[in-house]
Amino acid sequence: MSDTPCIFWFREDLRLRDNPALHTAVSSGQPIICVFIFDEDSPGDWSVGGARKWWLHHSLDVLSKDLTAMGGQLVIQRGQADEVLPDLVKTSGADHVYWTRRYAPYQIETDKGIKEGLEQSGVNVTSINGRLLFEPWRFKTGGGTAYRVFTPFWRSLKSEGEVRSPAPTIERLETAKSDVTSLALADLDLLPVSPDWASGFGEVWTPGEAGAKVRLDRFIQDAVANYSDDRNRPDVNGTSGLSPHLQHGEISPVQIWHAVQTAIDSGEIPEKQAQKFLSEIAWREFSYVLLFANPDMLDTEIQKKFEAFPWVDDLGKLEAWQKGITGYPIVDAGMRQLWQTGWMHNRVRMIVGSFLVKHLLIDWRHGMHWFWDTLVDADIGANTASWQWIAGCGADAAPYFRIFNPMTQGTKFDPDGDYVRQFVPEIADLPNKYLNTPWDAPEDVLKEAGVVLGDTYPEPIVDHKQARERALSAYAEIKG
Ligand code: FAD
Repeated sequence: MSDTPCIFWFREDLRLRDNPALHTAVSSGQPIICVFIFDEDSPGDWSVGGARKWWLHHSLDVLSKDLTAMGGQLVIQRGQADEVLPDLVKTSGADHVYWTRRYAPYQIETDKGIKEGLEQSGVNVTSINGRLLFEPWRFKTGGGTAYRVFTPFWRSLKSEGEVRSPAPTIERLETAKSDVTSLALADLDLLPVSPDWASGFGEVWTPGEAGAKVRLDRFIQDAVANYSDDRNRPDVNGTSGLSPHLQHGEISPVQIWHAVQTAIDSGEIPEKQAQKFLSEIAWREFSYVLLFANPDMLDTEIQKKFEAFPWVDDLGKLEAWQKGITGYPIVDAGMRQLWQTGWMHNRVRMIVGSFLVKHLLIDWRHGMHWFWDTLVDADIGANTASWQWIAGCGADAAPYFRIFNPMTQGTKFDPDGDYVRQFVPEIADLPNKYLNTPWDAPEDVLKEAGVVLGDTYPEPIVDHKQARERALSAYAEIKG
């Protein structure tokens, strides 16, 4: 067995269980140096957004403790990865570097460059998929092209794909002795200070591998049985809440897939509801299929006719949307949930997204960037594909002319108003009848609820009917 060290480079796979690349590195028998590089400088990089920095801090803290308990150590560095990693290799004398693959176009470019450089200097590189169920190029249409429509992709995944077994759990790590030094986690300055806008996040989330496992177990036990019905209800705890854990790789889709499949096989959960949930995991895969096949979709529309769309520049309205003061209660509840917890329910993401691009005619890229900065689960594939879906300009997109009505969406999916009341407390005393349409409430009802429109709660920033017509005629301009 060689005494020469190898390096494991942690990136978006902050876990010790079912980490195939880490398992391969440990199985080599070489002493190991585990490294995390906080990189805000790589060219073309989408730097980690503010909310994810909060998550990252706590996740690295957990990972570091878990590694120490196994005899390992997490080396923390910051800087441009293509400079820091080769330096670490040189200092440590490592002859092999392992990592889990990433799939955004700028990440592929960075990783390719690093790999070539290391290999030229005689260092081996092993990269393995540990982030997706399947590589994004795995399934192809009958014509040999990448899928652009979800349903046939899902059919193909289910009939042709066999999800691999989870990698064996690592029991012990042998840390290499070397001159490599580490920063303290605090040196990365990941936590917000004055103001600490993330103070509410810790009440909702427990970053780290153990927190992810608790979420998955709770979901399988309590919620998956009603998933198809409850997944659209922001007032109900009906979805898994696994997205930030998946984004940071604290749990793998393979672990989720097998845990759910085992519960189906044992009759613990109903197959139909569970399959619906697994299909959502497949939407995550599909977003990477789209991104891999359309690398420029990060900033340009997949449907090229949308490049001529007459977007409106209106910073004031954009800010009202960001702050949750549009005067439309379900929209405001969603935007405030996002700000207070770093997460928003999927149904409400669709409502607020549609409101931004259709009611306000504001460019979907503004929404995408705001979500990127404020979501703890900001994911380059899912976020980009979902914004293009909402804007109607993506591959398998909601048609542009289908415009969500925020009032009927609110009453349908938050029927008792619990969600709106939680995040828009200034209108909590309105009766249900007017909760989504405060402007229709008679004076005495408003007075009794302590609501003064335009003062304690805003008047709507656009008129729904006019906004709808304006959006449809803007669409007619490009329909060709
Ligand atoms: P569950 O319903 O429990 O679903 C399980 C998992 O399936 C999720 O954790 C997620 O990984 C995946 N998933 C579910 N729905 C989708 C979807 N539509 N597209 C891709 N994957 C999906 N999801 C992100 O993970 N990161 C994002 O940055 C993101 N941005 C979005 C932006 C917009 C405008 C919209 C409409 C949706 C976005 N989504 C994003 C998808 C979806 O809203 C979240 O994945 C979901 O709300 C996460 O909550 P959950 O884990 O409880 O989901």
